Amino acid sequence: MQQLDEFKRRTLRKLEDVRCPVHHKAPRLDFRGRTLREVSIQMKTCCDRLAELANRKIAET
Ligand SMILES: [Zn+2]
Repeated sequence: MQQLDEFKRRTLRKLEDVRCPVHHKAPRLDFRGRTLREVSIQMKTCCDRLAELANRKIAET
């Protein structure tokens, strides 16, 4: 549980300053799953441009 919370915090922090260059909106994240192993991230974005930026940011370590 604690690991999952940590994962969520880290992921949200990575996206803190990510904004769509076109619409100036932040991505919305929805975490599914109760453990780190089964967690998946549903991302809602205003457009594909932001989705691409956010995904790239999440992939960074
Ligand atoms: Zn957008």
